Amino acid sequence: MSCVRIPILMYHQIDVAPPKGTPLRGLVVSPGTFSRHMWLMYFLGYQGLSMGALMPYLRGEKQGKVFGITFDDGYQNNFHHALPVLRRLRFSSTCYAVAARVGQSNIWDLDQGIGQVPLMDKAQLQAWIDAGQEVGSHTSHHVDLTACDPQNLVLEVDGSRRLLEAMVRQPGGVQHFCYPYGRLHAASLDRTAQAAYASATTTQRGRVQVPIRGGALTLPRVLVSRSTTWVHLLLKCFTDYEDRRGSQI
Ligand SMILES: [Zn+2]
Repeated sequence: MSCVRIPILMYHQIDVAPPKGTPLRGLVVSPGTFSRHMWLMYFLGYQGLSMGALMPYLRGEKQGKVFGITFDDGYQNNFHHALPVLRRLRFSSTCYAVAARVGQSNIWDLDQGIGQVPLMDKAQLQAWIDAGQEVGSHTSHHVDLTACDPQNLVLEVDGSRRLLEAMVRQPGGVQHFCYPYGRLHAASLDRTAQAAYASATTTQRGRVQVPIRGGALTLPRVLVSRSTTWVHLLLKCFTDYEDRRGSQI
């Protein structure tokens, strides 16, 4: 039996390019590129799924032509530019929101001189869910969990879940987590397990080997950037291109 690998796509912003030289500009995928990515997968017979809907496939309980779609940080531009495409194709996806920053901006990036972009507010997160999408947690304040003391770990990992669950109505609550900066260590992994998240994604590059072994709390993803053409996307999803790049970003 051949080994099955499922890609989980990792997007950040979906918007027109900020000026050249802007830090992290590469993580802003244009609406046209995003749309081409989604339509390509659709025409190939693949269905894009949220982490919740993808789990039975990752566990090997279901088989099918599926892939995961995730958005980190919860930018408003996901709501404006990605949601219409996802709805049209009947795809679902998971947006990892920063619980204490909902309705604000990416202030955690200020130190690095990264431009401020609005994040979805409470009503938009609810509309996102009501449109068939999912909200996951990306901690309370977008912190590096490896730098947190035990008390802060609880606040960021468990607390963010409670904050989001108090904010939006989502069947089953908030069950999926994403490590900011892809940073995790034994204590943060333990905390994520204690908080009973069903899955947690990293920035480790690669596709998920199915059925998942060793738990679902360190899932690799497929990096999608501004320069990812549809040819690159095919390479990333259907060859070992990403699996060979096990590095963190
Ligand atoms: Zn992030």
